[in-house]
Amino acid sequence: MDAELLEPGQRIAALTGLAPAGDVGGTLAFADGLIVDAGADARAAGRGEGAGERTAETVDATGWIALPPLADLHAHLDKGYTWTSFGQPEGSLDDAIACWIDHGENHSSDDIKAGARRHLVAALHAGVTTVRSHTNYHLGDDPLRGVRALIELRDEFAGIVDLQIVASPGSSDGPDDLGRAAVALGIDLIGGFPHLAEDPRADLERNAAFAEEFGLGMDLHTDETLDAASTGLAELAARTRHWPAGVIRSAGHCVSLSMQDAETRARTLAAVAEAGVSIITNPLTNLYLQGWQHPVATPRGIPPLREILAAGITLAAGGDNVQDPFNPLGNADMVDVASELVVAGHLTPAEAWHVSSNGGRAAFGLPPARGRVGDVADVVLVRAAHTAEALAERAPDRIVIRDGRVIAVRRRVVSSVLDLRALPTPPSAPTSEGALL
Ligand SMILES: [Zn+2]
Repeated sequence: MDAELLEPGQRIAALTGLAPAGDVGGTLAFADGLIVDAGADARAAGRGEGAGERTAETVDATGWIALPPLADLHAHLDKGYTWTSFGQPEGSLDDAIACWIDHGENHSSDDIKAGARRHLVAALHAGVTTVRSHTNYHLGDDPLRGVRALIELRDEFAGIVDLQIVASPGSSDGPDDLGRAAVALGIDLIGGFPHLAEDPRADLERNAAFAEEFGLGMDLHTDETLDAASTGLAELAARTRHWPAGVIRSAGHCVSLSMQDAETRARTLAAVAEAGVSIITNPLTNLYLQGWQHPVATPRGIPPLREILAAGITLAAGGDNVQDPFNPLGNADMVDVASELVVAGHLTPAEAWHVSSNGGRAAFGLPPARGRVGDVADVVLVRAAHTAEALAERAPDRIVIRDGRVIAVRRRVVSSVLDLRALPTPPSAPTSEGALL
């Protein structure tokens, strides 16, 4: 069958005619949820089907490329789509936090769940099958309503979008009752914001000790400031370097790294690599929130991505905010994030896609999905000639395949254009009434 005809639920034995992109080109064969040798696709066809499932098809994917599925490692699902209802604010990180505090009490459980669900559905259609989301303790009655909403969605999307939920022990100068309740509800990782605390080192220690108490990993907002003196990343590396290899430790943002001298950066990145800390860059939100106080030579607020990769550190990316006070323009599509990693972060298109897919999977603790024999049978089909075109055009047509089965299809068809030849010929000398600006 032709790829044009694919619909969710269709099992696939093999994709043929793929244009080369990354490790994949020509034929990609699937069996039992894994990539298999293309020569084995005849044997693979029809296998792995349960009762009532459709026959696995060989699909002509001419005109498409198969890329690793996208992974958004820094989201705030509980904040999504609030920019309008929260008063259409603009400004810095401090302004966004103040707006959140002003309006947060009215953000109901239903609002949170509706926004988070819309975000996950949009992400899925874009080819995102892995999401790590932070959540706040919400103001007013029932501060755990965000945690509960995300846990319900984690169950609802199980097997389609893998979701990790991050929550802090509680405010840095208060009790940790909320954190304990969130752990009891089933969050995955401990979060925090040491750079916003009065004593960042003490707050890091509190977060790390809390994570250790429950045997959980940790993902901290780290150095989300242009102040070069903010050295939370180095402190996080020092604090977690003795943690067992399988325990997640991630640092989101790492903005101040971009303001530090080369020697400091090199020293910090060596320690981060040795400690096994992954870095998660959030270019859209940092480009938006940082730099408001620097009208001349405005800094980008993006960490030195190529230096991070060269140091051997796992680098992932996040969309961070979707149409909320922290960024009015996010859209849950990691292709927009990857594009920014090229334009503002100076990675190649292939590097940017890797960071936005397998980099995220590694930070999440998932096996790679490179399209190689033995990898999971997860790809996103993109109608494009190559990776750069997929990013440049924001590749509207995508088909998301997981475990060898189509789980989402997105089609954006341009249905018609104006027939320019049918336009009346303009007068050669327009009258003053008819002139346009
Ligand atoms: Zn964040």
